[in-house]
Amino acid sequence: MKTIVLGAGIIGVSTAWHLLQRGHEVTVVDRQPDAALETSFANGAQISVSFCEPWANAQAPFKVAKWLLRDDAPLLFRPRLDPHQWRWGLSFLTQCNDAAFERNVAQLVALGRYSHETLKAMVAQTGITHDRLERGILHFFSSPQAFDDGAQAAELMRRHGVDRRVLSRDEVLKVEPSLKSFAGQIAGGTYTPSDESGDARVFTQALARLCAARGATFLYAHDVVGFEQAGQLVDGVRVVDRATGRPSTLKADHYVAAMGSFTAPLLRPLGLYLNIYPAKGYSATLQLKRPDDASIVSMIDDDRKIAISRLGDRIRIAGTAELAGYDTTLDSRTSRRRCAALVQRYEELFPGVADTAEPNFWAGLRPSTPSNIPLIGRSKRPNLWINAGHGTLGWTHGAGSGRALAELMSGERPRLAFGFLGDAKGHAVPVRGSRLSPG
Ligand SMILES: Cc1cc2nc3c(=O)[nH]c(=O)nc-3n(C[C@H](O)[C@H](O)[C@H](O)COP(=O)(O)OP(=O)(O)OC[C@H]3O[C@@H](n4cnc5c(N)ncnc54)[C@H](O)[C@@H]3O)c2cc1C
Repeated sequence: MKTIVLGAGIIGVSTAWHLLQRGHEVTVVDRQPDAALETSFANGAQISVSFCEPWANAQAPFKVAKWLLRDDAPLLFRPRLDPHQWRWGLSFLTQCNDAAFERNVAQLVALGRYSHETLKAMVAQTGITHDRLERGILHFFSSPQAFDDGAQAAELMRRHGVDRRVLSRDEVLKVEPSLKSFAGQIAGGTYTPSDESGDARVFTQALARLCAARGATFLYAHDVVGFEQAGQLVDGVRVVDRATGRPSTLKADHYVAAMGSFTAPLLRPLGLYLNIYPAKGYSATLQLKRPDDASIVSMIDDDRKIAISRLGDRIRIAGTAELAGYDTTLDSRTSRRRCAALVQRYEELFPGVADTAEPNFWAGLRPSTPSNIPLIGRSKRPNLWINAGHGTLGWTHGAGSGRALAELMSGERPRLAFGFLGDAKGHAVPVRGSRLSPG
């Protein structure tokens, strides 16, 4: 079966890999000159199966309202004259209750587990190295109130079978001794030993090379601009070569839309209205000056809602979210403040450990759904499949989302309780036994 995958981020490349494994003939199209040059480029690096709580919870509306006017708010909603943004915001509000939160967590944990197992199998099979550290994720809190809330969240996650431990300050320092100079400001933490971290860009680009070696065609530097239709079917994808401006139409039996935040506007002309909206986030990547004094365990600093991950001799600091459209600029007033705050915080935590003169700032657009649940499965157009909307967790869920979609496209039922597109009412379908075979 001939399949065209649109988008060469972690989601598109992982889908391509698993399709190849199942004997599909695959072409991947992307506007960039290589894989993983947009949102999968410099994220927080965390494979956080156990830290996967959706943004939408019963307290979220009050927090977001309080943060509306603060440039440095962790989640910033900038209202625009954009009906898609408002539709997203209203749907988000419908998810802000305990029942929806529990339902969403259950699906995110299920996909996270499935994906982690798949990622491990892929790493074992391919030998890809991507500054991977299997040291868990440590979440530390600076106030007793936040620590109490964190302990309650840990309890909820344990109900979903996740090993999230509550740690005293001393235990936090045992897990990550490099936090010692900040110890006085740590109230406690939670820790998930089975989580890990690694560089999503390095992994995705290596996987793309392996896909090419197995026969996939990569058509880079081509913009997807539209679709041909034949009745309900998609009958071609219109692309434009960025170098020459030459338009052409590519044809296949099946099409996969994995263009991150851009999936939604590109599919609207087909009558498909996906509720995906970009949430801009930032990162800084610093070269370490004193690697022995730097953290190894991947961390979340609850006070600032930022992730800190060690990537070889570099450190990645990432976080914050802005719902303000599709721009990825780094030089607006808000962007500059947000970027500077990442580096300042790192200096507070680890003074003098990294070179802050070259912060390598970056901004990316998380393709976010109101529930945080990605859209995976068959669209209303029978030969058009969707793999998008992975929000804060696209690296965590990338391997498994690619595999799950490839399985669905090959007539298999993925072995996890998850509501795929095309399922009746999109509800999670429970499965018996959750052991996975490598793939
Ligand atoms: C600051 C930040 C921190 C994050 N931290 C983490 C983390 O620690 N752990 C985690 O699991 N996730 C994290 N994420 C989320 C994760 O990075 C994303 O969910 C993931 O990268 C999305 O992958 P994707 O393949 O869907 O999108 P992308 O990587 O953006 O891929 C989409 C591709 O489609 C292409 N494309 C788009 N439009 C077109 C078009 N018209 N024509 C041709 N090509 C097109 C783009 O060039 C791009 O390559 C973070 C995100 C941000 C922003």
